[in-house]
Amino acid sequence: MISIKGLTKKYDSVTAVDGLDLEIPRGELFGFLGPNGAGKTTTIKLLVGLLKPTSGSIHIDGMDLFKNPLEVKKIIGYIPDRPFLYDKLTGWEYLEFVAGLYSMEINVAHDRAEKFLNFFDLDGFADELIEGYSHGMKQKLIISGALIHNPTVLVVDEPLVGLDPKGARQVKQLFQDLCAGGTTIFLSTHSLGVAENMCHRVGIIQKGRIVAMGTVDQLRSQAKQEHGDLEEVFLKLTGDSDFASLLDSLRSTGPGKEGPGLK
Ligand code: ATP
Repeated sequence: MISIKGLTKKYDSVTAVDGLDLEIPRGELFGFLGPNGAGKTTTIKLLVGLLKPTSGSIHIDGMDLFKNPLEVKKIIGYIPDRPFLYDKLTGWEYLEFVAGLYSMEINVAHDRAEKFLNFFDLDGFADELIEGYSHGMKQKLIISGALIHNPTVLVVDEPLVGLDPKGARQVKQLFQDLCAGGTTIFLSTHSLGVAENMCHRVGIIQKGRIVAMGTVDQLRSQAKQEHGDLEEVFLKLTGDSDFASLLDSLRSTGPGKEGPGLK
C-alpha cells in the first residue's frame, strides 16, 4: 500500500532522510521510531506531500505521490504532531469544513461526523466553539477530521500526546479496528510502549536510515536481547551503548551490591 524507494531529503548540508526504502502492506499498523533528529518528521512530511524529496519516490496504492499529489492526498488522512484548528468554529463546523475540502456528500459527512463525535464522547460539545475545548478534546476532533473522508492510508505523528488513559485506549482501539478493516497506518512515535502495544511492525530510523525493522520480537533477537523490553532494544539498535550498558548495570546491581544500583 505504501512503497518508498530511495527516498532522500537534504536541507543544505544536512541529509535528513538518506535513501529510505520501505514497503508497508495494506492493513498494517507500522510504527516509526527513532531518536531526536533522526528524520521521522521529515519522512512524514514527505509521505503526506508537504515536502518534495531531493530524490526517490513514494507510491501509495500504486499512485506516484509526487506526480499525482492531489489524487493521492484524497486517500490520505494526516494527524500532525502540532495540529492547527480554527478556534472560532464549533466542533461540528470544523468537521463540516474538512468534509467540504474533500468534496464529501453532505449526508455522508454528517453521518460520519456524528459517529466520531459519539465515539469520542464529544457529542455534547459539537456546538461549542473549539477555543473552549481541552487539549484532549482538540486531539480527538483532529483525529475525527483526519478520518472523516475514510482514508485508505492514515499518517500519524505522536497520536496519544495529551490524551487521558480512556482517550488513549479509544484511539488504540480505533486504530486497530481501522487496520482490521484494511486501512494502513504509518505511525511515528517516541513512545516505545505505543510501538510495542499497537504496532504490527516497527522500523527504527537513525541519521535518516533504517537501522532495524521487524516485529518487536524480531528486533529483540536482532539486538540479541531475548527478554529485554523495547527500550533496551531501541538503545542497543540505535547504538546508544553507554546508556544501554548503564541500564544493564543498574538492573544487575541493586542497592547494597557493587555498582551504581537503583536507590
Ligand atoms: P524529533 O524526534 O526531534 O522531532 P525527527 O526524527 O522528527 O526529530 P527531523 O525533524 O526530521 O527529525 O530532522 C532530521 C534532521 O533534519 C535534523 O538534523 C534536523 O535538524 C534537520 N532539519 C529538519 N528540518 C529542517 C529544516 N527545515 N531546515 C534545516 N534542517 C532541518
